[in-house]
Amino acid sequence: MKKLNLNSLVRPNIMNLKPYSSARDEYHGSYDSIYLDANENPLPENYNRYPDPHQVALKQKLSEIKDVDPERIFIGNGSDEAIDLLIRVFCAPGSDRVLIMDPTYGMYRVCADINDVEVEKLPLTKSFQLKADEIISLAEDPLKSVKLIFLCSPGNPSGVSLDPGDVIQILENVNIPVVIDEAYIDFTNHESWSKKLDQFENLIILQTFSKAFGLAGLRLGMAFASFEIISLLDKTKPPYNINEYSQIKGFEVLENYTQIEKWNTELVRERSFLEKELPNLNCVFEVLPSETNFLLVRFNNSSSIFEYLTQNKIIVRDRSRQLHCEDCLRITVGSRKENESLINTLKEYEKESALY
Ligand SMILES: *Cc1c(COP(=O)(O)O)cnc(C)c1O
Repeated sequence: MKKLNLNSLVRPNIMNLKPYSSARDEYHGSYDSIYLDANENPLPENYNRYPDPHQVALKQKLSEIKDVDPERIFIGNGSDEAIDLLIRVFCAPGSDRVLIMDPTYGMYRVCADINDVEVEKLPLTKSFQLKADEIISLAEDPLKSVKLIFLCSPGNPSGVSLDPGDVIQILENVNIPVVIDEAYIDFTNHESWSKKLDQFENLIILQTFSKAFGLAGLRLGMAFASFEIISLLDKTKPPYNINEYSQIKGFEVLENYTQIEKWNTELVRERSFLEKELPNLNCVFEVLPSETNFLLVRFNNSSSIFEYLTQNKIIVRDRSRQLHCEDCLRITVGSRKENESLINTLKEYEKESALY
């Protein structure tokens, strides 16, 4: 494996950054101390104190569930914050680049654009797999100054995991960080790449509370990486990036992990229900394989289906303009009732369009 030289990869201003030292950083005392150090209001009973800037309790709980050392966990205000921070840590605006796949999750490009970091884009194969050789040669091209690669597995919008052999080939042959976004990891039988953190110092994994954990509204995301990379994210983040309510609620939901597992079983069952029902419809051309909580469905005429569903207050995502996704809509797996409404509405569409 190539050695990751953080000194040459990280932006010098971040490498040299002396982070903000919060009141809670400078004094770790017992809970019954009299805190007159942070200009908080002592009178209310709840939420009057600044939250733990290091999210110690939440990280401890996550560590048990994910089997990752707490020192290798970063918690962000959604994984979107981690994506933004990674770009800010590694990519100098106006000169460095990130490498993303096509098609992929939209936030990598948006965060790069916001940070004035150029994007190099390589197409996935028709079956949404990596072209590992092309990725490696682009990543290693000194003229391109690529500092970060974003992969997504299982993929959004593809729904399928990346071939582990291709991912390993990339991890072994580039000397820049490789981010693997595992937002949908709970819905696949593939093992998380977090098991490989010891093996690859350039490996960064993103996961989220927004999908299987059912907490999109709290904005909690996580990154797993080497202690050195996690430290860089920690010192760059706003000190109190995770509010107290989210820390407490996130912790509570993790304590009841059997509930998450039950939801998971149910959603995977609902996915199978849709996978069985959708192909019976004439308007459906094919249902692509999925290891996520959504299905990429190719219709015979996706734009009229999209319009009809919207008119009937069923909102899905139009992905038809993305590479390899012609006539595809991305449909989130809903509850049984929602899924039945979807199927019935599509049947109505077929009846009505047969009239013409
Ligand atoms: C939904 C999703 C996320 C989640 O982002 P949060 O900011 O944690 O809500 C991240 N990556 C991908 C690919 C997603 O589809």
